[in-house]
Amino acid sequence: MYVGAHESASGGPYTAVERALDDECEALQLFTKNNNRWTQRMWTEEEAAQFRQHYAKSGLKGVMSHSAYLINLCSKTAKTVEKSKVALADELTRCAMLGIPYLVLHPGSHTGQGEEAGLRLIAENLERVYETEEDGQWQDVTLLFENTAGQGTCLGWRFEHLADLFERVFDPTRFGVCFDTCHAHAAGYDLTERESYEAVWQEFDAIVGLDHLKAFHLNDSKKPLGSRVDRHELLGEGEVGLDAFRFLVNDDRFADIPAVVETPPLESGEDSFAEMVALLKGLRA
Ligand SMILES: [Zn+2]
Ligand SMILES: [Zn+2]
Repeated sequence: MYVGAHESASGGPYTAVERALDDECEALQLFTKNNNRWTQRMWTEEEAAQFRQHYAKSGLKGVMSHSAYLINLCSKTAKTVEKSKVALADELTRCAMLGIPYLVLHPGSHTGQGEEAGLRLIAENLERVYETEEDGQWQDVTLLFENTAGQGTCLGWRFEHLADLFERVFDPTRFGVCFDTCHAHAAGYDLTERESYEAVWQEFDAIVGLDHLKAFHLNDSKKPLGSRVDRHELLGEGEVGLDAFRFLVNDDRFADIPAVVETPPLESGEDSFAEMVALLKGLRA
């Protein structure tokens, strides 16, 4: 497992590579645009090349982008869905320009329409988005569905939701899964002990398929198992606990997979990423 962090790209995408190196990361996640805005000017070819060059020289072993939180392909508000389709296409283009192979997406919130309708709308609207692809421009970018904590009407908290999406999408080879440990815990998947850890992965493999798993978010959880509330905690200081992270970093099935922390700041107010990356490396057998 290649461990790293979600780094700020403030100052341009290439600066996230510099921050990752400062924190001794092996993998990196960044936002390729402001995550709370619908639109932003596209990167110039020069800015994109600057990122690609920094990344190529960095020695980092994996990189992913996280899409904007506003995107919801199964909202009951038509205007939100229309904006989401445009925004997702824009993010795929940014990843392609920057040479980033993975774009993480929260599947969506059905906002009262029901799970079945929500999952169908996500798959349908993904097809609408990919119909706007020009000349295979996104072919080197895999869109990763992130498992969620299941807050409100969020979809993707049950493995069955993820499996359903793979069944419905127009081309499953263009999609994968990013597994968030905090979200899984909040959704009721218990990684805390060896036996339950193995059972979770057996269940994931049987329902979704381990071959779809392309990335991890390694976060501890402030909230208990099955709480369906998404609150990230420093690794080892929450309800997931260090054993789960020890199992993960030493699991041969995940040896070549990028894994990033999205942990809150330290008590001092400083960001926690260097400490968390060092901690994960220290768990290796
Ligand atoms: Zn996450
Ligand atoms: Zn979260």
